Amino acid sequence: MDRTNALTFSVLGGGGEVGASCFQLSVNGEHLILDSGTHPKKEGRDALPEFSLLRRAPDAVLVSHAHQDHCGSLPYLGRQFPGIRTFTTIPTVRIMERMLHNSVSVMGMIRRERGVEDYPLYYHEDVDYTMRSVVGQPMGQPFQLPLQTPVEVTYLRAGHVLGSASILLRFPGHTVLYSGDICETDQELMPGYAQLPDDLKVDTLIVESTNGALDESKVHDYKEESSRLGEAINETIRGGGSALIPSFALGRTQEMLNIIARLQKEGKIPWVPVYASGLGRAVYELYDRYSDYLLPKASLQPLSRFERLGDVWNPRVVKSLLRDPCIIVATSGMMLENTPSAMIAEEMVKHDQHGIFFVGYLDHETLGHHLLHAEAGDPLQFCLESPAVEVRLRNIKRFHFSAHASRASLRTYIDTVQPKNVIYVHGDVNAIDWMRVHTGAGRQAYTPAIGQSITLEQ
Ligand SMILES: [Zn+2]
Ligand SMILES: [Zn+2]
Repeated sequence: MDRTNALTFSVLGGGGEVGASCFQLSVNGEHLILDSGTHPKKEGRDALPEFSLLRRAPDAVLVSHAHQDHCGSLPYLGRQFPGIRTFTTIPTVRIMERMLHNSVSVMGMIRRERGVEDYPLYYHEDVDYTMRSVVGQPMGQPFQLPLQTPVEVTYLRAGHVLGSASILLRFPGHTVLYSGDICETDQELMPGYAQLPDDLKVDTLIVESTNGALDESKVHDYKEESSRLGEAINETIRGGGSALIPSFALGRTQEMLNIIARLQKEGKIPWVPVYASGLGRAVYELYDRYSDYLLPKASLQPLSRFERLGDVWNPRVVKSLLRDPCIIVATSGMMLENTPSAMIAEEMVKHDQHGIFFVGYLDHETLGHHLLHAEAGDPLQFCLESPAVEVRLRNIKRFHFSAHASRASLRTYIDTVQPKNVIYVHGDVNAIDWMRVHTGAGRQAYTPAIGQSITLEQ
């Protein structure tokens, strides 16, 4: 296939699943990779895309945004194929650097605690090496890839998290649009708007399908959820407790901190200290640096407005943190064991005055999910080196904030683009199936699995 003129699309990860997004576009013997993620539910080498399908070094890599499921395996790929050239948006370069260095530390910790021999999949030096060949491009400005085949690329705003982009690729005689992760509704900081190419001439659309299985009646209004969260925090603080909000480091943490700051300003939450954990703070600095990407009305609070969380692996630090009412936004969002949110929750659940409020996606196999559904007295283990703790706390709630387009918005998006081919990715099987049935009529619809290739008409 390598020497034909046909443009082919292959899936290395993120086909029929959310995780380890990695796709290949090949033409005239040249290979482009779209995203190079890791799978959040898998461990060790299993979390990587199927890199064994790569016959040789990719000629370029394009990254849509800095979430782990889109960029987490980039240093691994860079180790396999030194000198690989990577392109992404300007904010994503800096965010990715922090996220990837943090991954090295997390993988090292998992190896020590659980003996996962494959970890770390790469080291800090690999991250530094990879980052040296990453080029940041402004949004909306076309640039040429350094290939034999003339390919013009444009990053378009995707409305998902800071720096997130859809990727428009103009091959000779064929235009491809990769949506990346998109959001069409405003969040507290991010403008919800997935930009489309001006001429709307797209032959093939590769589109995310995250919310394909989520009924419109279950889509929650962002502002209403913010108020509901505010009420829950308010009740908890007035009852003498503290509120913990487990959050992903990129996106949700910055959004939550600004919702809380606004509600305090509006007098809806008492004026108690607000704490944020390390990686979330590091990414916050970049939200500050690139605040022109945010909603003009957002008026991002300075990071100094929020307190730094201390060494929460020390039980004495957590006890003193919880002595007086406060609000804590801490990673990880799904409360994986041994992370700051788990270490704080371990102490909180022994009492009944506090509140734990989940605000993001919760996988069924995670500690966060088990805690949300725990009965009074159930034992749960928050730290793998410590014994299980009996859960006394009842004030544990779930709120629904999404940074992904609803399926109705995805349908409008596809109808507006009007592609000849549509390829559904980044969704579980049910989600992708709904998308195919409801948006695939009248066009070539593909739902490729990992390892499958599609020859796109030219
Ligand atoms: Zn994402
Ligand atoms: Zn994603």
